[in-house]
Amino acid sequence: MQHPHAPLIDGYGRLHDNLRVSVTDRCNIRCFYCMPERDVEFVPRAEILTFEEIERFVRIAASLGVRKVRLTGGEPLVRRDLDRLVRRLVQIPGIEDIALTTNGVLLAGQAEALYGAGLRRLNVHLDTLDRERFFQITRRDELGRVLEGLEAARRAGFGPIKINAVAVKGLTEPDIVPLARFGRERGYQIRFIEFMPLDAQGLWDRSRVLLMEDILRILAAEFGPLEPVPDPDPRAPALEYRFPDGNGTVGFIASVSRPFCLNCNRIRLTADGHLRYCLFALEETDVKRLLRGGASDDEIRETIRRTVAAKWIGHEIQQAGFVPPPRPMYAIGG
Ligand code: SAM
Ligand code: SF4
Repeated sequence: MQHPHAPLIDGYGRLHDNLRVSVTDRCNIRCFYCMPERDVEFVPRAEILTFEEIERFVRIAASLGVRKVRLTGGEPLVRRDLDRLVRRLVQIPGIEDIALTTNGVLLAGQAEALYGAGLRRLNVHLDTLDRERFFQITRRDELGRVLEGLEAARRAGFGPIKINAVAVKGLTEPDIVPLARFGRERGYQIRFIEFMPLDAQGLWDRSRVLLMEDILRILAAEFGPLEPVPDPDPRAPALEYRFPDGNGTVGFIASVSRPFCLNCNRIRLTADGHLRYCLFALEETDVKRLLRGGASDDEIRETIRRTVAAKWIGHEIQQAGFVPPPRPMYAIGG
């Protein structure tokens, strides 16, 4: 019989200490690789976990060795008073690190409150510095507000600030060098993310993935060949490369060309309280039913443990028979 507080280790020996919590499936923009353009089906508000329910879940997860939490969505900043949730989570014993992934549109108005609540790490999603392409990708004219948000975050004291740029073949090639320059000049860490099969309209196709090696080639033509940098955390999904002049690095989340499943340490809680062992999982565990049904902490701990134990070895995006998950990115929590 396993100790009830023993760490979360799956059938392949992977330790799980990293939890991503989606706080909403709603969003104020409509990136085509994540959401449909119109008629988005959102979860009814009553189905979304309350801050109290999220806090309880994180407390239980922390008792099982979870140390890092990232808040995501949908767009987490559309959830009212998110700083109140951050304030609660930073106080949970065992939680060492809280981060937030945001599209930045509402960041200027919230950066100070979030910093004041104890948040220190931010990933801001920005694929292009070109206003027209920003509109083409997100179907909203919000580039200006994202750039203001980045500045406000820096002024508030956040660091490091990472920029997540989804790379799509035939579309974002002209953005690679300007984003890299922007990061080098202003001290943001750019991370290019390969387009994954998680969009809502079935637009993903292997031929639309701008691969890490394509991006490295584009960067090398401008800056000279980049060199891989060993990551101090071998379980971090990003592969880091250094510019030849030593000024800055870029990272890659190469989920399609270099899956990092063998090092995966993550579990995910959806906004409507379902636990997933993988972004691409085809099954979920309904934790909300337990949270709202009077289950004890021990019962919830056991459920988390069983979900992790059932984790597969990895997704199979590279295989011909790959089946995308039934929910798109915004509904899972990226
Ligand atoms: N709204 C926030 C944002 O955009 O950062 C948080 C949620 S979003 C789903 C989390 C991340 O997923 C984003 O940074 C975006 O870059 C990434 N993303 C969304 N759809 C994707 C896809 N189909 N392939 C790769 N990355 C994707
Ligand atoms: Fe919204 Fe983020 Fe999805 Fe874009 S990627 S539609 S910002 S949730």
